[in-house]
Amino acid sequence: MIERKNLLFVISAPSGTGKTTVSGKILKEIDGLIPSVSHTTRPRREGEIDGKDYYFISGEEFKRKIDANEFVEWNEYNGNYYGSSFENIEKAEKLGKDLLFIIEVNGAGNIRKRHNNGIYIFILPPSINILRERLVHRGAESGEAIERRIKIAGKEIQHYTEYDYVIINNEIDETAKQVFSIISAARCRKNNLIMNSEESAK
Ligand code: 5GP
Repeated sequence: MIERKNLLFVISAPSGTGKTTVSGKILKEIDGLIPSVSHTTRPRREGEIDGKDYYFISGEEFKRKIDANEFVEWNEYNGNYYGSSFENIEKAEKLGKDLLFIIEVNGAGNIRKRHNNGIYIFILPPSINILRERLVHRGAESGEAIERRIKIAGKEIQHYTEYDYVIINNEIDETAKQVFSIISAARCRKNNLIMNSEESAK
């Protein structure tokens, strides 16, 4: 049997860049790819489903999970805690699926320390002004909260050099196509093949 290693894809992007929409499209269109559902202490937003978008847990529960070493990485972001559990990686391995993380830059850096064979993708907004316009248009937050996100975004953007691929999100469908292409190409990389001795002797 010729097989392929299970791959780990990590996408980071400042909030408002469109990563949730892009990842929704990717997960719908690409077979054999499952999301890493994170745990968070952030309150659930309207329309979000517990266990699908996130596992929404209390601060105490989050702390208990840190102490029990259940997270491959975790981080504080904008006053809330977010973490990716080892269980997600184990689940993907068991199912023989590739795994998609959508996490902020510090978390991505911590995953990279353990999994340097992962594929790291950064999605950039076309400009900070366009990002601000998108956040205002979303209408979910006050001007002050938006400016706080813009400030965080400015810091996050500086990390783009740590990623393998950088996509400028001018248009969502085009961005999704580019992520699709990166995933397809990564799946064909020779180093991701597992060739047993019987096959290689043929
Ligand atoms: P939001 O509150 O907008 O859903 O997410 C805030 C930020 O946290 C986003 O950049 C999102 O990608 C990131 N994030 C979501 N889950 C995780 C996680 O498990 N770990 C880390 N480090 N960041 C996460």
